[in-house]
Amino acid sequence: MHRPGKIVCVGRNYRDHAKEMGNDVPKEPLIFLKPPSSVIADGEPIVLPPQSGQVEHEGEIGVTVGKTLRRASAHEAREAIQAILAVNDVTARDLQRKDVQFTRGKSFDTFCPVGPWIETDIDPNNVAVETRLNGEVKQKGNTADMAFPVSFLIRYISEIMTLYPGDLIATGTPAGVSRMRHGDTVEVEVAGIGVLRNKIFDPNANQ
Ligand code: ZN
Repeated sequence: MHRPGKIVCVGRNYRDHAKEMGNDVPKEPLIFLKPPSSVIADGEPIVLPPQSGQVEHEGEIGVTVGKTLRRASAHEAREAIQAILAVNDVTARDLQRKDVQFTRGKSFDTFCPVGPWIETDIDPNNVAVETRLNGEVKQKGNTADMAFPVSFLIRYISEIMTLYPGDLIATGTPAGVSRMRHGDTVEVEVAGIGVLRNKIFDPNANQ
């Protein structure tokens, strides 16, 4: 499994999701980090932690960079895109709200399913993502609807921190996030790339 050196996530990058969270789209990208230790592969279980009663899916389009980037130009940012993949930015919403910042709610082990992994030349500005919970469509989005497009994000992030080959950027989630429970199956499908499928496991559930 590919474990990126860092995972940079973008919050409120779709107007409809910002709205459902009671926020506006920010004037600049809102970024936060998930730790590499949260990464799991397609098919591995998402484990519900005892600290949270509201773990939600956030189906997203991820991009990895294939080059070292520091203060990249728009052109360099675009050229650096290595792969497009499905990401589930799993979030303990209750802890995120309680803490007022994102680290605890976003960082539990297994909270970053990623894959399938495809190096591609697809236009990053027209990629569709759909998230299903037990087969029911919950989220639908397209990078064309994002407040800040992919190459803008890469450039913006590279003005803050150096990006290294293999680093992953999760570009934000559309509306429709919902709670996942023990035994559920969550799927994030990126059109033209594939399906990321994980089951939810609660070690404390009655079995
Ligand atoms: Zn997210």
